[in-house]
Amino acid sequence: MAGGGDDAAAARNKMVVLKRHVTGFPMEEDMEVVVGAVGLRVPAGSSTPAVLVKNLYLSCDPWMRGRMSKHDEGATAPAPDFVIGEVRLHEPTHLRVVDSYQTMENYGVGKVIDSTHPEFKSGDLVWGMSGWEEYTLVYQPESLIKINHTELPLSYYTGVLGMTGLTAYAGVMEVGRPKRGDFVFVSAASGAVGQVAGQLAKIAGCYVVGSAGSDEKVDLLKTKFGFDDAFNYKSETDFAAALKRCLPDGIDIYFDNVGGATLDAALLHMRHGGRVVVCGMISQYNLEEPDGLRNMLCIIPKAVRVEGFNVAGYFHMYSRFEEEMARYIKEGKIAVVEDVVEGIESAPVALVGLFSGRNLGKQLVALARE
Ligand code: NAP
Repeated sequence: MAGGGDDAAAARNKMVVLKRHVTGFPMEEDMEVVVGAVGLRVPAGSSTPAVLVKNLYLSCDPWMRGRMSKHDEGATAPAPDFVIGEVRLHEPTHLRVVDSYQTMENYGVGKVIDSTHPEFKSGDLVWGMSGWEEYTLVYQPESLIKINHTELPLSYYTGVLGMTGLTAYAGVMEVGRPKRGDFVFVSAASGAVGQVAGQLAKIAGCYVVGSAGSDEKVDLLKTKFGFDDAFNYKSETDFAAALKRCLPDGIDIYFDNVGGATLDAALLHMRHGGRVVVCGMISQYNLEEPDGLRNMLCIIPKAVRVEGFNVAGYFHMYSRFEEEMARYIKEGKIAVVEDVVEGIESAPVALVGLFSGRNLGKQLVALARE
């Protein structure tokens, strides 16, 4: 075990704090970038082992929206609400300077700066849950995963080789269970999860159609990700008709990232024995009253399986997934498109942009490149 001490230098630590809990669509102004300080060693005398990580890339994910609301006590929520940042001002600057804070958090990729945990040493590259900040002191290092494929871009561990890639893999392979020749439909198909889900279904020998919110994204689906067909749902007047046009024989697997009207239309069009992989419902996350579904009845005569899943239940297969996905990337079977913004100041606007489709591919924030 190495590290731990008081004699280390301190560094500036810019971070994103939540200013107020959110109802409706999140706005950049709901968050604030503040400046704190961090010692560059794990504090001496800490009762539990800890790892100090310099964050290189932070991931922007829709699930963060759920944590920006204030839920009633006992309400079902995927993770605890973010705590409103406790900001105490030192001095007024263009950024606020704090000595007490609570950052937002999400998955990130980083380099270990110091460690008192036996399994991590300075210089290790890791990914896992971290603060939305430049440096994070991780007190539960079991949640960090060492990066094996350093020959691939490290940023991939925020996406295709990280949580969203594992989500696509678990959703397609474990929940959807594709068979060669299946007809597959993926919504939000050019995004982090969707682009990988569609390509995995192609690898499994399926006919794959995607929907996305711009002509540029549709073009990407067909030219970069190898989808067989795709359409821009924002310019279609009749969503069900678009599905019928692209998938005249119906859908065997619907990989649902958006819920709402898209899910309802897809239900009408499922084939006998079809599977609806309920991954996400981004169209519902900012609504006070969720949309209802009208077409659930269809699942009875067609014996359709509708199954939700949470990636948290699939981390036991991460090693297998990492090897398989790294191989696909190297073989050119999986293409990756990232939308990278620079600097932590860009994080709030990048997060908000997910809910209007501003991102083109996996949205992430680059803080430092080693
Ligand atoms: P993403 O697709 O990279 O980004 C979000 C995309 O959603 C936007 O670019 C936009 O694309 C689309 N969108 C936004 N608002 C929409 C609306 N009202 N109606 C239809 N589409 C809308 O995000 P991601 O990280 O890959 O996540 C995709 C989904 O998977 C999300 O629902 C997320 O919550 C879910 N997810 C679930 C798990 C799990 O464990 N089950 C894990 C990770 C993610 P367009 O321009 O194409 O509209």
